[in-house]
Amino acid sequence: MTRLRAVLVSLVVTMTSLVAITATTTTPAHADECYSWGRSLSSGASGADVAELQIRVAGWAGYGVNMAIDGSFGPQTVAAVQGFQAAYGLEADGVAGPATYAQIYELQDPDCTPLHFSYDEVVPDCGGTGFSGGSVPEETVKENLKRVMWRAEALRQRIGNVPLTVSSGFRSQACDVEVGGSGSGQHTYGNALDLIGVPFCTLADNARYNGFGGIFGPGYPDHDDHVHVDIRAGNTWSAPDCGV
Ligand SMILES: [Zn+2]
Repeated sequence: MTRLRAVLVSLVVTMTSLVAITATTTTPAHADECYSWGRSLSSGASGADVAELQIRVAGWAGYGVNMAIDGSFGPQTVAAVQGFQAAYGLEADGVAGPATYAQIYELQDPDCTPLHFSYDEVVPDCGGTGFSGGSVPEETVKENLKRVMWRAEALRQRIGNVPLTVSSGFRSQACDVEVGGSGSGQHTYGNALDLIGVPFCTLADNARYNGFGGIFGPGYPDHDDHVHVDIRAGNTWSAPDCGV
Protein backbone atom coordinates (compact mmCIF):
# COMPACT_ATOMS: atom_id res chain seq x y z
CA MET A 1 0.00 0.00 0.00
CA THR A 2 1.37 3.44 -0.90
CA ARG A 3 1.75 5.97 1.81
CA LEU A 4 -0.98 8.17 0.24
CA ARG A 5 -3.39 5.27 0.06
CA ALA A 6 -2.74 4.40 3.70
CA VAL A 7 -3.54 7.97 4.70
CA LEU A 8 -6.76 7.88 2.69
CA VAL A 9 -7.85 4.58 4.26
CA SER A 10 -7.12 5.96 7.69
CA LEU A 11 -9.17 9.07 6.87
CA VAL A 12 -12.13 6.99 5.75
CA VAL A 13 -11.93 4.90 8.93
CA THR A 14 -11.85 8.08 11.03
CA MET A 15 -14.84 9.56 9.20
CA THR A 16 -16.78 6.33 9.55
CA SER A 17 -16.32 6.32 13.31
CA LEU A 18 -17.28 9.99 13.49
CA VAL A 19 -20.54 9.23 11.68
CA ALA A 20 -21.15 6.33 14.07
CA ILE A 21 -20.57 8.56 17.10
CA THR A 22 -22.90 11.25 15.72
CA ALA A 23 -25.62 8.69 15.05
CA THR A 24 -25.35 7.35 18.59
CA THR A 25 -25.52 10.72 20.29
CA THR A 26 -28.48 11.99 18.26
CA THR A 27 -30.75 9.01 18.99
CA PRO A 28 -33.42 10.11 21.50
CA ALA A 29 -32.29 8.82 24.88
CA HIS A 30 -35.74 7.72 25.98
CA ALA A 31 -36.26 5.71 22.83
CA ASP A 32 -33.03 3.82 23.39
CA GLU A 33 -33.54 3.12 27.03
CA CYS A 34 -37.15 1.97 26.99
CA TYR A 35 -38.58 1.00 23.63
CA SER A 36 -38.19 2.16 20.03
CA TRP A 37 -40.56 1.57 17.18
CA GLY A 38 -38.99 0.41 13.93
CA ARG A 39 -41.91 1.10 11.59
CA SER A 40 -44.96 3.30 11.20
CA LEU A 41 -48.18 1.67 12.35
CA SER A 42 -51.71 2.17 11.06
CA SER A 43 -55.08 0.45 10.81
CA GLY A 44 -54.72 -3.25 10.09
CA ALA A 45 -51.23 -3.63 11.57
CA SER A 46 -50.56 -6.22 14.23
CA GLY A 47 -47.70 -7.30 16.44
CA ALA A 48 -45.88 -6.66 19.68
CA ASP A 49 -45.03 -3.12 18.55
CA VAL A 50 -48.76 -2.38 18.21
CA ALA A 51 -49.30 -3.54 21.78
CA GLU A 52 -46.48 -1.26 22.98
CA LEU A 53 -48.18 1.62 21.18
CA GLN A 54 -51.59 0.73 22.61
CA ILE A 55 -50.26 0.81 26.18
CA ARG A 56 -49.14 4.40 25.66
CA VAL A 57 -52.23 5.77 23.86
CA ALA A 58 -54.97 3.74 25.58
CA GLY A 59 -56.03 6.77 27.60
CA TRP A 60 -57.12 8.58 24.44
CA ALA A 61 -59.63 6.20 22.81
CA GLY A 62 -62.64 8.26 23.89
CA TYR A 63 -65.48 8.41 26.40
CA GLY A 64 -66.11 5.07 28.06
CA VAL A 65 -63.67 3.19 25.84
CA ASN A 66 -61.53 0.86 27.92
CA MET A 67 -59.57 -0.55 25.02
CA ALA A 68 -57.91 -3.93 24.88
CA ILE A 69 -54.13 -4.14 24.65
CA ASP A 70 -54.22 -6.90 22.06
CA GLY A 71 -51.56 -6.02 19.50
CA SER A 72 -54.18 -5.52 16.80
CA PHE A 73 -54.53 -2.02 15.28
CA GLY A 74 -58.31 -1.68 14.93
CA PRO A 75 -60.80 1.21 15.14
CA GLN A 76 -60.20 1.79 18.88
CA THR A 77 -56.47 2.10 18.29
CA VAL A 78 -57.07 4.52 15.41
CA ALA A 79 -59.25 6.64 17.71
CA ALA A 80 -56.70 6.41 20.51
CA VAL A 81 -53.82 7.50 18.27
CA GLN A 82 -55.94 10.38 16.93
CA GLY A 83 -56.86 11.43 20.46
CA PHE A 84 -53.23 11.30 21.54
CA GLN A 85 -52.10 13.30 18.50
CA ALA A 86 -54.76 15.97 19.02
CA ALA A 87 -53.94 16.25 22.73
CA TYR A 88 -50.31 17.02 21.93
CA GLY A 89 -50.87 19.30 18.96
CA LEU A 90 -49.95 16.83 16.22
CA GLU A 91 -51.80 16.15 13.00
CA ALA A 92 -54.54 13.73 14.05
CA ASP A 93 -54.32 11.22 11.20
CA GLY A 94 -54.48 8.06 13.33
CA VAL A 95 -51.16 6.83 11.92
CA ALA A 96 -48.29 6.32 14.35
CA GLY A 97 -45.20 7.62 12.59
CA PRO A 98 -42.10 9.64 13.48
CA ALA A 99 -43.97 12.65 14.96
CA THR A 100 -46.13 10.45 17.18
CA TYR A 101 -43.16 8.37 18.30
CA ALA A 102 -41.14 11.52 19.04
CA GLN A 103 -43.94 12.70 21.34
CA ILE A 104 -44.11 9.32 23.05
CA TYR A 105 -40.33 9.32 23.54
CA GLU A 106 -40.64 12.71 25.19
CA LEU A 107 -43.18 11.29 27.62
CA GLN A 108 -41.42 8.01 28.21
CA ASP A 109 -39.05 7.36 31.10
CA PRO A 110 -36.19 4.84 30.77
CA ASP A 111 -38.23 2.25 32.72
CA CYS A 112 -41.17 2.78 30.32
CA THR A 113 -43.37 4.55 32.84
CA PRO A 114 -44.83 7.90 31.71
CA LEU A 115 -43.05 11.15 32.50
CA HIS A 116 -45.20 12.31 35.42
CA PHE A 117 -45.70 8.99 37.22
CA SER A 118 -43.19 6.48 38.53
CA TYR A 119 -42.88 3.16 40.30
CA ASP A 120 -41.54 5.14 43.27
CA GLU A 121 -44.94 6.68 43.92
CA VAL A 122 -47.03 3.54 43.53
CA VAL A 123 -45.00 1.59 46.10
CA PRO A 124 -46.74 -0.83 48.48
CA ASP A 125 -49.44 0.99 50.37
CA CYS A 126 -48.54 -0.58 53.73
CA GLY A 127 -44.79 -0.05 53.40
CA GLY A 128 -42.06 -2.36 52.17
CA THR A 129 -40.39 -2.55 48.79
CA GLY A 130 -41.12 -4.37 45.57
CA PHE A 131 -44.42 -5.53 44.20
CA SER A 132 -44.82 -9.07 45.51
CA GLY A 133 -47.68 -10.52 47.55
CA GLY A 134 -50.37 -9.32 45.16
CA SER A 135 -53.02 -11.28 43.30
CA VAL A 136 -50.72 -11.82 40.30
CA PRO A 137 -46.94 -12.30 39.95
CA GLU A 138 -44.71 -9.30 40.58
CA GLU A 139 -43.88 -8.82 36.88
CA THR A 140 -47.58 -8.72 36.02
CA VAL A 141 -48.21 -6.22 38.81
CA LYS A 142 -45.49 -3.97 37.38
CA GLU A 143 -46.87 -4.28 33.85
CA ASN A 144 -50.37 -3.41 35.10
CA LEU A 145 -49.03 -0.44 37.04
CA LYS A 146 -47.28 0.80 33.91
CA ARG A 147 -50.55 0.58 31.99
CA VAL A 148 -52.63 2.40 34.59
CA MET A 149 -49.95 5.10 34.91
CA TRP A 150 -50.09 5.80 31.14
CA ARG A 151 -53.84 6.34 31.45
CA ALA A 152 -53.25 8.61 34.44
CA GLU A 153 -50.77 10.55 32.29
CA ALA A 154 -53.57 11.01 29.75
CA LEU A 155 -55.95 12.19 32.48
CA ARG A 156 -53.32 14.65 33.72
CA GLN A 157 -52.89 16.06 30.21
CA ARG A 158 -56.65 16.16 29.62
CA ILE A 159 -57.33 18.33 32.66
CA GLY A 160 -54.66 20.82 31.64
CA ASN A 161 -51.35 19.16 32.50
CA VAL A 162 -52.09 19.64 36.19
CA PRO A 163 -50.00 17.62 38.68
CA LEU A 164 -51.77 14.64 40.22
CA THR A 165 -50.66 12.82 43.35
CA VAL A 166 -51.02 9.08 43.92
CA SER A 167 -52.23 8.52 47.49
CA SER A 168 -52.34 4.74 47.09
CA GLY A 169 -51.01 2.42 44.40
CA PHE A 170 -50.06 -1.21 44.82
CA ARG A 171 -51.30 -3.27 47.79
CA SER A 172 -50.30 -6.80 48.68
CA GLN A 173 -53.26 -9.01 49.55
CA ALA A 174 -52.38 -8.72 53.24
CA CYS A 175 -52.22 -4.95 52.94
CA ASP A 176 -55.56 -4.79 51.15
CA VAL A 177 -57.16 -6.60 54.10
CA GLU A 178 -55.30 -4.35 56.55
CA VAL A 179 -56.80 -1.20 55.00
CA GLY A 180 -60.30 -2.66 55.03
CA GLY A 181 -60.43 -4.15 51.53
CA SER A 182 -61.38 -7.62 50.34
CA GLY A 183 -57.79 -8.79 49.96
CA SER A 184 -58.22 -9.25 46.22
CA GLY A 185 -59.20 -5.79 44.99
CA GLN A 186 -57.84 -3.98 41.93
CA HIS A 187 -54.94 -2.53 43.95
CA THR A 188 -53.62 -6.08 44.54
CA TYR A 189 -53.26 -6.50 40.76
CA GLY A 190 -51.45 -3.22 40.24
CA ASN A 191 -54.48 -2.11 38.23
CA ALA A 192 -55.52 0.81 40.43
CA LEU A 193 -54.46 4.24 41.59
CA ASP A 194 -56.05 6.49 44.18
CA LEU A 195 -55.59 10.07 43.03
CA ILE A 196 -55.64 13.42 44.78
CA GLY A 197 -54.35 16.89 43.97
CA VAL A 198 -57.25 18.48 42.07
CA PRO A 199 -60.97 18.72 42.88
CA PHE A 200 -62.26 15.16 43.10
CA CYS A 201 -65.22 15.70 40.79
CA THR A 202 -62.85 17.06 38.14
CA LEU A 203 -60.96 13.79 38.36
CA ALA A 204 -64.01 11.53 38.41
CA ASP A 205 -65.74 13.41 35.60
CA ASN A 206 -62.74 13.50 33.26
CA ALA A 207 -61.50 9.98 34.03
CA ARG A 208 -64.45 8.65 32.01
CA TYR A 209 -62.64 9.87 28.88
CA ASN A 210 -59.28 8.31 29.67
CA GLY A 211 -59.84 4.58 29.53
CA PHE A 212 -60.57 3.72 33.15
CA GLY A 213 -62.89 0.75 33.69
CA GLY A 214 -63.24 1.51 37.40
CA ILE A 215 -63.91 4.99 38.76
CA PHE A 216 -65.03 5.62 42.35
CA GLY A 217 -65.25 9.01 43.94
CA PRO A 218 -67.35 11.35 46.08
CA GLY A 219 -70.63 9.84 47.18
CA TYR A 220 -69.36 6.26 46.87
CA PRO A 221 -68.66 4.80 50.34
CA ASP A 222 -65.18 5.66 51.67
CA HIS A 223 -64.25 7.64 48.54
CA ASP A 224 -64.81 11.21 49.65
CA ASP A 225 -61.09 11.92 50.11
CA HIS A 226 -59.70 10.57 46.82
CA VAL A 227 -60.76 9.26 43.44
CA HIS A 228 -60.00 5.63 42.69
CA VAL A 229 -59.31 4.73 39.05
CA ASP A 230 -58.44 1.31 37.64
CA ILE A 231 -58.11 -0.60 34.38
CA ARG A 232 -60.50 -3.49 35.06
CA ALA A 233 -62.42 -4.83 32.06
CA GLY A 234 -65.76 -3.15 31.37
CA ASN A 235 -66.90 0.04 33.06
CA THR A 236 -67.96 0.26 36.71
CA TRP A 237 -68.23 3.90 37.71
CA SER A 238 -69.69 5.52 40.81
CA ALA A 239 -69.19 9.03 42.06
CA PRO A 240 -72.82 10.04 42.63
CA ASP A 241 -71.96 13.40 44.20
CA CYS A 242 -70.30 14.29 40.89
CA GLY A 243 -73.05 12.94 38.67
CA VAL A 244 -70.84 10.02 37.67
ZN1 LIG B 1 -58.54 2.63 45.41
